Amino acid sequence: MNLLIRKILISIGENPDREGLKETPQRVEKMYKEIFRGYDKTQEPNITIFNNGVDGIEYDQMIMDQGDYYSHCEHHMVPFFGRYWFAYIPHPKGKILGLSKVGRIVDWFSAKLQVQERLTHDVVEHLWKSLANEKDPIGMGLVMEGEHLCKSMRGVKKKGKMRTTYLMGAIKDDPAARAEFMDWVNKNGEL
Ligand SMILES: [Zn+2]
Repeated sequence: MNLLIRKILISIGENPDREGLKETPQRVEKMYKEIFRGYDKTQEPNITIFNNGVDGIEYDQMIMDQGDYYSHCEHHMVPFFGRYWFAYIPHPKGKILGLSKVGRIVDWFSAKLQVQERLTHDVVEHLWKSLANEKDPIGMGLVMEGEHLCKSMRGVKKKGKMRTTYLMGAIKDDPAARAEFMDWVNKNGEL
């Protein structure tokens, strides 16, 4: 990959042998291994799941989590990044999720070339499948807001921000659950 990065430097008009760029190809290669680790199956995070009720309560209300994410747009290979809002309603006889794992799964699917729509979809499908052993979760939803540098940096729009949403089960179909989730997102989101 070193040589390829070197060729890119030359092709944009740079001198890859000048002092500041000497180590750049190696640095970029090393960084790519980290930020695109999502292609390496061996680094896939394990998801911890528990039987609902194991804590003495069969929980059937909405559980929410939010955080940041950083990914790369597959059309331009530059970052898009922002916040996500995740929620699910566990099946009272089904599984519950170690919530710290949501962020790690978001990170994992972000660590490859993506489009925000697919990223949102893939995270939900993956978490849904992880929980759906015998009983499907009651509902699940994810909203992602992202600033796309391929837009903001080029002034195509003043801010290259977009929001994507993927909902399943009751959070999609039950107006009350959907409103509970979306109200929470809208209180915190910018779009
Ligand atoms: Zn792009």
